Amino acid sequence: MTEQVKQLLDKNELIDPFNRQITYLRLSVTDRCDLRCTYCMPEKMTFLNKREVLTFEEMYKLCIGFIHLGIKKIRITGGEPLVRKGIIDFFEMLKPHLSSGLEELTLTTNGTQLRKYADELYSNGVKRVNVSLDTLDQKKFKQITRLGNLQDVLLGIQAAKDANLKIKINCVALKNINDDEIDTFINWCIENDFDLTFIETMPMGDIGNETRLNHFLSLNELKRTISSNFELEDISFSSGGPAKYSKINGSSIKLGFITPLSHNFCSSCNRIRVDATGVLHQCLGQNNSLDFRKILRNSSYNDSDLLENIKKSIRQKPEKHSFAYDFSKAHIGGKMSRHMSLTGG
Ligand code: SAM
Ligand code: SF4
Repeated sequence: MTEQVKQLLDKNELIDPFNRQITYLRLSVTDRCDLRCTYCMPEKMTFLNKREVLTFEEMYKLCIGFIHLGIKKIRITGGEPLVRKGIIDFFEMLKPHLSSGLEELTLTTNGTQLRKYADELYSNGVKRVNVSLDTLDQKKFKQITRLGNLQDVLLGIQAAKDANLKIKINCVALKNINDDEIDTFINWCIENDFDLTFIETMPMGDIGNETRLNHFLSLNELKRTISSNFELEDISFSSGGPAKYSKINGSSIKLGFITPLSHNFCSSCNRIRVDATGVLHQCLGQNNSLDFRKILRNSSYNDSDLLENIKKSIRQKPEKHSFAYDFSKAHIGGKMSRHMSLTGG
C-alpha cells in the first residue's frame, strides 16, 4: 500500500454534507431479471449490453475501496442478483472481508433461484436474505410478475429456511391487487417467523401502459386497516434503513413500513447505491451520480483515485428525494427515468 493510499484511509469516515454517516452499500450486480413485475418494469424491457456491466473483479475492487473507507454492510441486489452467472463466486470473494471491516453481507432476491443457491449463500457468509413477495395467490403472482410461478418462490423460501437463512419478506402494497389478502399474508409470516416489510410504489422508470397512481396504496392507510385486526405497537427498532417498525402483539415478528411517498425518511439515510454499470447514485430519487466504471477502466487507474472519488461521491449526497404523487391532478412529481431494477431496491 502506498503512503498516499494509507493517508486516504486514515480519514476513515464517510460522512455526507447532512452529517449522515454512510455505512451501507447496495450493489446491483445485474439489471436482468427472470420476472417482469408490473410496478418495476415494462413487459418488453431493454437490458444493458454485457460490456456495459462491471465484471465481478471490477465490482470487487470497488467494494474493497468502500470497505476500507468504512462501509459495514453490503447488500447485493439487481435486477435479480441470482440470475447472474458466477454470483456465488462473487460472494466467496467478499466473504473473507466479513472478518475485517465488513459486518454484514446480504442479498435482496425475488426468490426464484433460492432453491438452487440457499446453501451456498449461507456457506459464503450470507446469514439473512430479503425476499420480495407481494401475494400468496398463484393467479395474482402471475398477474404481478408476468412470468413467475409462485411455487418456485415458496420452495425457494423453504430452502432458505432449511439453510438457516433468516428471512425478511418485502411486499409492495398494491391497491386493488393485494390489499385484500394482507391479513392472510401477515398470518403466513407469523406462522413462519418471517419479518415483513411493506413498501409504497415509487415512480422509478417507465412501466408501459400501467400507471403507478392506479395501484398506489398509502401505507398510513394500510397500517390503519391492519390495526383493526392485529394489535400493533410501534417500536424504536431500526435496521439503519428507512423502515419504521411495529410489533404485532402475540407474535415474534416485526412489521416494517417503508413510506417514501407518505412520509419522507431521508434524514436517517445511511446508504449509497452502485448500479450494474458502476455508476454510484447518491440518492434513489435524484440524478446525482458518479461513474466509477470510467475510473476502474481508466488505463492509468490507481487505488488512491478510487478512494478519493468514493469520498467525493459522499460529499455530493443530496438531502432527499423529490417523489410526490398528486392524485387530484393525476400527476407524479420527482419521477426518475431509471428503473429500480438498474439501481436495486
Ligand atoms: N429482483 C430482486 C427482488 O425483486 O427482490 C431485487 C431487485 S428489486 C428492484 C428490489 C425491490 O424493489 C423489490 O422488493 C421490489 O419489490 C422493489 N421495487 C421494484 N420496483 C419498485 C417500485 N417502483 N416501487 C417500489 N418498490 C419497487
Ligand atoms: Fe425483477 Fe425484482 Fe423488478 Fe420484480 S422487482 S421485475 S423481481 S427486479
